[in-house]
Amino acid sequence: MTKHELVHWINKLIEHRNIKAFYNSGLWEQIRNESLQRDNNECQKCKAKGLFSAAQCVHHVKHVRKYPELALSIDNTISLCNSCHDLEHPEKLQNKSKPQLNEERW
Ligand SMILES: [Zn+2]
Ligand SMILES: [Zn+2]
Repeated sequence: MTKHELVHWINKLIEHRNIKAFYNSGLWEQIRNESLQRDNNECQKCKAKGLFSAAQCVHHVKHVRKYPELALSIDNTISLCNSCHDLEHPEKLQNKSKPQLNEERW
């Protein structure tokens, strides 16, 4: 997939509120696995504070909605535990009742 096709695909998914199709794709799974391996399955935010937490998800440092071209860039990913991940997404915490909010969880 070229960068242009990737951007087009992701923008389409966002438009159709179906970004979870991206997170369910084999392409993302591969990046996710590489990221977890690179980070030794440890939450990198906790690690920076001298704590240990198992990574529970892989987060996009630059959010996919704004930077779809970086969706599959390993350098744009970081392994996090769920509590650190929630802190990266204050927009999710504010609107917990809406169903589409967990879409970036995985
Ligand atoms: Zn953490
Ligand atoms: Zn995230």
